[in-house]
Amino acid sequence: MTTDCIFCKIVAGELGCDKLYEDDSVLAFRDISPKAPVHGLVIPKRHVATLDDFTDDDAELLGRLMRTATAIAADHNLEGYRIAMNVNALGGQVVFHAHLHILGGRQMRHMG
Ligand code: AMP
Repeated sequence: MTTDCIFCKIVAGELGCDKLYEDDSVLAFRDISPKAPVHGLVIPKRHVATLDDFTDDDAELLGRLMRTATAIAADHNLEGYRIAMNVNALGGQVVFHAHLHILGGRQMRHMG
């Protein structure tokens, strides 16, 4: 736990969240400022600042994050959806506790 990290505070139960899923290593909850009808965040419970900070030893954890996102999509009957991960400030990351965004429930704009 990193004391000044808001997502660590959510993991610790010090801050509330609208929980979507939880297991030993992963927590998922609704984004407080949703950009789509379904907007979830999937995080490792352990503090990992960015995608760059995972190691080869975290391959299973990374898989769990992705599988949690697909399970949330299935729970919400999302036929199509977007998974996004902002990496570092230049990549648009604001909260430095790694997280997947899952966005769905509307037509996603084409990225090309
Ligand atoms: P990012 O720009 O990828 O770091 O995204 C951080 C996301 O965290 C933003 O979409 C915020 O709306 C969301 N967020 C920040 N604080 C909270 C919170 N307390 N509960 C849920 N989502 C949050």
